[in-house]
Amino acid sequence: MDDAGPRLLTQSAELRERALKRTPGGVHSNVRLSGSRDFIRCARGAWLYSVDGHDYVDYLLGQGPNFLGHAPQPIVDAVFAACRDGIIFGGQHELEVRAAELVCDAVGWPDMIRFSMTGTEAVQAALRLARAATGRTKIIRFEGHYHGWLDNVLISQRDGKWGAASAGQLTSHLDDSVILPWNDATAVAEALERHEIAAVIMEPIMINAGVIEPLPGYLDAIRELTRQHSSVLIFDEVISGFRLGLGGGAARYGVTPDLVTYGKAIAGGFPVAALAGNAELMSRFGTGEVNHAGTFNSSVMATAAVTATLTSLLEDPPYDRITQHGNALMAGLREISAAHNVPLRIVGLPQAFHVAFGDADVTDYRSLQQLDLARYEQLSRVLVEHGIWVAGRGVWYVSASHGERELEVALTRFDKALTDWV
Ligand code: PLP
Repeated sequence: MDDAGPRLLTQSAELRERALKRTPGGVHSNVRLSGSRDFIRCARGAWLYSVDGHDYVDYLLGQGPNFLGHAPQPIVDAVFAACRDGIIFGGQHELEVRAAELVCDAVGWPDMIRFSMTGTEAVQAALRLARAATGRTKIIRFEGHYHGWLDNVLISQRDGKWGAASAGQLTSHLDDSVILPWNDATAVAEALERHEIAAVIMEPIMINAGVIEPLPGYLDAIRELTRQHSSVLIFDEVISGFRLGLGGGAARYGVTPDLVTYGKAIAGGFPVAALAGNAELMSRFGTGEVNHAGTFNSSVMATAAVTATLTSLLEDPPYDRITQHGNALMAGLREISAAHNVPLRIVGLPQAFHVAFGDADVTDYRSLQQLDLARYEQLSRVLVEHGIWVAGRGVWYVSASHGERELEVALTRFDKALTDWV
């Protein structure tokens, strides 16, 4: 029935009316302000089911965390079982030791880890630690990279200038940020000469804006430069961690940072993030020299979720399946859009790729603006109306639970959406 006609959102409209009375914008994260108005009843595997009886093939994955699909049985079972014996202790428990060992061993290079609830917090811990270790305050970060919603990292571009992105944001908290174009090692070299830099922080692959890969040699150059200047190199792998492989972007591109942040795919959909790194840096938390805290850090829920997720990734690695699905999906989307004469540009990795209108050689945020991102945002709404759950910013995520059926349904719906749209 979903493919037959317009999707009515009767119950969703009622819920939205109620939500708007009690919740600003009807949502609890501003990222969702522009999302679909359909309320979700439940989700399984690669599918979302709405209160109005609609289903969606999900390529948003809750903005990334549902890397193993929705409600993955082994993870949910492990969390429920563990929580029966308590949820948070204000003390230590074995699961958090196990989770820490599993992550450090799976990634390979980090000696130590601290868990937190969100990627935003993990980034803050990384920046504080880098500042403490170097005795410097400035950081280098990059246009188009997202590191959370707090005052010292949230940026947007207005009238060609990067600065605060929100009313009420303390712009002075950005005074210590040197914001550079990404994929340009010369710009980093010059900034490192000019300023005393505590840390260089980046997504090793810029998934948040355009799913842009680092140019060959770029990450190596930054690694070398940060070593020369005794600055801490932080890879923010909140999206890429465990999604691109157990070692994330660091392993994919063969460059080891000093600190790494994880989130999203690390815990099968549960709210967990982490900061990991070498013992020399990380042990500063342990001595109490550098503060890192959080009532809910390393809860039973969180560490059971991490333990079960890592166990699943190690025992039944989904990476080949995801690669197969993602590649077939990208190929199918390209073929269908070509048949409809719709000039879509579909690039990236099978685990996460980007869809936009236009054709340009994109290596950074600036060149990304040559694409027609606004037109894709319009198309994304049509795709959602046709049963493909995607975000307006063009990033599609593939999970371990996407298979043949999802591919067939997604491509059929995509075809129909373009027929109706053009
Ligand atoms: N870092 C990166 C690279 C992210 O993509 C995000 C969120 O999307 C964050 C940090 C912030 O994570 P959270 O939303 O869990 O606070």
